[in-house]
Amino acid sequence: MARLELKGTPVSPGVGLGQAWTIVDPASRRIPRRHLGAEEPEAALARFEAARRRAVEDLKRIQAVTTRELGIQDAAIYGAQIAVIQDPDARRQIERLILEERIQPESAIQELLDRFAGLFEKLEGGDIKTWAADLRDPWLCVVRELEAVEEERLELGPDARPVLIAEELTPSLVTRHHRQPLAGIACTRGGRFSHGALLARSFGIPTVTGLDQVHTKAVAGEHVVVLAEEGRVLFGIDEREREIAARMAAERERLRGVLLEASGEPGRTADGEALSVLVNIESPQDLAMFEPSHAAGVGLFRTEFAFMERPSFPGRDEQLEVYRSVLERFPGKPVVFRTLDIGGDKQLRYFQHPQEANPVLGWRGLRLSLEWRDLFLIQLEALVAAREAGDARILLPMVTTVEELREARRLVAQVCGDGRSIPVGVMIEVPAAAMALRELAKEADFVSVGTNDLTQYLFAVDRDNPWVSGLYQPYHPAHLRVLRHIARTCAALGTPLSVCGEMAGQKTGALFLVGTGYRQLSVVAASLQKEKALLREVPQQELRRLSHAAVGAHTSSEAFGILREAADRIWERVAARSEADPD
Ligand code: PEP
Ligand code: MG
Repeated sequence: MARLELKGTPVSPGVGLGQAWTIVDPASRRIPRRHLGAEEPEAALARFEAARRRAVEDLKRIQAVTTRELGIQDAAIYGAQIAVIQDPDARRQIERLILEERIQPESAIQELLDRFAGLFEKLEGGDIKTWAADLRDPWLCVVRELEAVEEERLELGPDARPVLIAEELTPSLVTRHHRQPLAGIACTRGGRFSHGALLARSFGIPTVTGLDQVHTKAVAGEHVVVLAEEGRVLFGIDEREREIAARMAAERERLRGVLLEASGEPGRTADGEALSVLVNIESPQDLAMFEPSHAAGVGLFRTEFAFMERPSFPGRDEQLEVYRSVLERFPGKPVVFRTLDIGGDKQLRYFQHPQEANPVLGWRGLRLSLEWRDLFLIQLEALVAAREAGDARILLPMVTTVEELREARRLVAQVCGDGRSIPVGVMIEVPAAAMALRELAKEADFVSVGTNDLTQYLFAVDRDNPWVSGLYQPYHPAHLRVLRHIARTCAALGTPLSVCGEMAGQKTGALFLVGTGYRQLSVVAASLQKEKALLREVPQQELRRLSHAAVGAHTSSEAFGILREAADRIWERVAARSEADPD
């Protein structure tokens, strides 16, 4: 079995070592359009009805188990799924196909699913498409009943645990198998906020999705390791690699003590300079991925994902509930809510964006909110009301000019009325805003640097375009010098400053940023513990020296090499500490 490594999206944390169990699912193939042979249309319709009833019974059983194990909220999805296959309109369409066009029930369901897929295809945006799965999944239960598909069962060794491999991370994939002790799940498709993902997290199964065609590449029975936090899955590993993987899992366990010790305490450098390591989240569901008390707060809540997961624009009270639920988990700590940052690659299915030749350079972030004022005001009202639940702050995305900031602040003041104000910060993602930062920083309560977009715009490189990805260079001295300029400007003005782009969560990035004067880093949950443990090992002087050397480099690879070498060296010190003190 050839060795294969795939990289995807982390969905549920953990390390899973087991054997591939490929799921033959109706989702992974197209059912051809077959006509009824000798079967009478009425008999075929009765067969469909019987399968539909059995699927409903099955979903009710899963709903009961989920209610018992996870609670009503998580189980509500099955009520929705039952409603999907009981929908009279869908039933009428299938009935017509069977009776009038004389096609088999399985094929009729496929035609219905194609219609759903067609509707969702027209909508842009990653997570939107995953909703199609929520509609498709219950119908596939009916197909399964019709075909009585026997899953490919695998003879596993007595100690081996299965890693499920499937095309799509659906709720029924997770629940159908949850009594079987699973080592992990690896799928080709499935959004981080799909219901399948929610259930995988609830059951604590290490899970990765977005793995390129994994359902066709994995070989049943081969040994697999799922490194879920890193979004990596390794297939066809030999005995030696299995041992390495098992050692890696053990090493993680061993490092856990040191990481936990670091993460339970406030962030700091080795010589005691205080640091705030905050976390980036996109949904209250993310809070299941880490221990909130380990973070100094939320440095970036990307609120648009709460909007993208829904069929229509959430009202003030619905938004308030989401914001409040996050604030309550961070008592006494800041939670920075970034206002809607859609446009570019992020679209809402209930909002028709105009066609733009260059959407990333177009109507996105704050530009859109200031135009789309009614909806912006609803979000501001929810955020202002959320203050009662904690230390809520507002962050404005894609700010380009001072006038934009002034206008947004005017609207915030209007919503606050005579009440207490709420801090308003600006994201620095546009090079012009970075270079004219003095004026912006004077009028903002805080500044947060979005290195993902700042790199994109500084290098004129689409961050999602593989053709030019080689030029997307966050460690290029040009970008590092802009970051230094931002740190110096904010320090001179006394404006609080943080970084919330991906770079802040990388070991190399953290070393550079702290060495450059940044004291607040907002990172992905998977980096939280490691980052705090890393920074505790290094005195400021060493960090300053590293920053100086990286800024003075001639190329991106030279700067990155300096930081990489230091990160590896310092991480060895962290590991050595855990050896000396295994508890
Ligand atoms: C950024 O641009 O660095 C950022 C944090 O925002 P996003 O990745 O959501 O665009
Ligand atoms: Mg951005």
